[in-house]
Amino acid sequence: MSVSAAAGSWRAGDDAGYVGRFAPSPTGPLHAGSLVAALASWLDARARSGQWLVRIEDVDLPRCVPGADEIILQQLATCGLVPDAPPVWQSQRDALYQTALDHLVSSGHVYPCACTRSDIAQANAALGRVKPRHGDLVYPGTCRPAQGGLQGQAARAWRAQVPEAPNDLVCWQDRRLGPQTQRLAEAVGDFVVKRADGLWAYQLAVVVDDAAQGITHIVRGQDLADNTPRQVELQGWLGLPTPHYLHTPLVLGENGEKLSKQNGAQALDLSTPLQALRAAGQTLGLPLTLTQATSVPDWLTQATAAWADITPA
Ligand code: GLU
Repeated sequence: MSVSAAAGSWRAGDDAGYVGRFAPSPTGPLHAGSLVAALASWLDARARSGQWLVRIEDVDLPRCVPGADEIILQQLATCGLVPDAPPVWQSQRDALYQTALDHLVSSGHVYPCACTRSDIAQANAALGRVKPRHGDLVYPGTCRPAQGGLQGQAARAWRAQVPEAPNDLVCWQDRRLGPQTQRLAEAVGDFVVKRADGLWAYQLAVVVDDAAQGITHIVRGQDLADNTPRQVELQGWLGLPTPHYLHTPLVLGENGEKLSKQNGAQALDLSTPLQALRAAGQTLGLPLTLTQATSVPDWLTQATAAWADITPA
C-alpha cells in the first residue's frame, strides 16, 4: 500500500507548542452543534495548556451573512471562550492562498478545468453514475492533462489531481475515531481548489491557514472527518505538517441528520450560557457531575479537567 503524505499524522503527540483553533463559517449565528465544536476545541487546548485561536472562514462569500462573524465572537465570549490572539478572517488572506495555488500548479498537482456542473452530470450519466444522496458526483476527469486538458476551452476552476492507483489510500489517525483510510479517487475524485466563481475552495484555504497559524491540533465536528483525507493530501503536496485530528460527536436534528439551519437549528439561546454549555458538554460525554458548577468560569474549569480525563492524547 502506498501511504500518501499522511505519514506526518502518525507522529507521537507532543504538547509542547500546542495550538488549536475554532474555525466557524459566518453563515449565521452559532447553533447548538457549532457550540459543541467550539467548546471541544477550547477544552482540548486548555487541557494541554495550549493556545486557542479563532479563524472566521468567510471565503464562501455568497453563503456568509453580514454581521454573523461579530455575533459568533460575541456568543463565544458569552460562553467564556475567548481566543488567545485576535481572530483572523480568511477573506483577507488571498495572497497566501494564491502562493499555495502557484506552488501546486508548478508541481503539477492541480490542473485547470473548463467543465460546468451540467458537463460533469452528463459525463457521469454517460458512465452510468448517479449522484449519491449525500455527496457529489466524482469528477470524471474530462479536463485532466492526460485526457487532453482544456482542448481550447476557457478555464473555469482549478482541480487537484488525486492519485488513481487502486491501492493509493490516504491514512490518518483520529484521536476519537481511530485509524481512518480513504481512497480519494473513489470517494471524491479530482476536487476543486479554486472555484469557477473565482473563490477559494474550503479545502485549500483551511490547509494553508492551519499551517500558517501553526495549528498543531484540529478539533472539529465529525461531519468534516471525510474532508480530512483531501486536506492531508494537500498538506503533503505543499510540504506542510499534518496536525493531530479529533472529530467530535454531532448534535442531530429531528430528522436524525446533523443539526443545521436547514433542519431547524435555532440560534443558541444564551440567556443562560451555563445551560448551553452543559448541553454541549453532554454531547461531548462530559460527566453529569459538572452540573454542580454554578458559574461559567467554574464550569469551564471543571470541564477542562473532565475533558483531560476522558480524551485520548
Ligand atoms: N468552517 C468550517 C465550518 O464551519 C469548519 C472548518 C474546520 O474546522 O476545518 O464548517
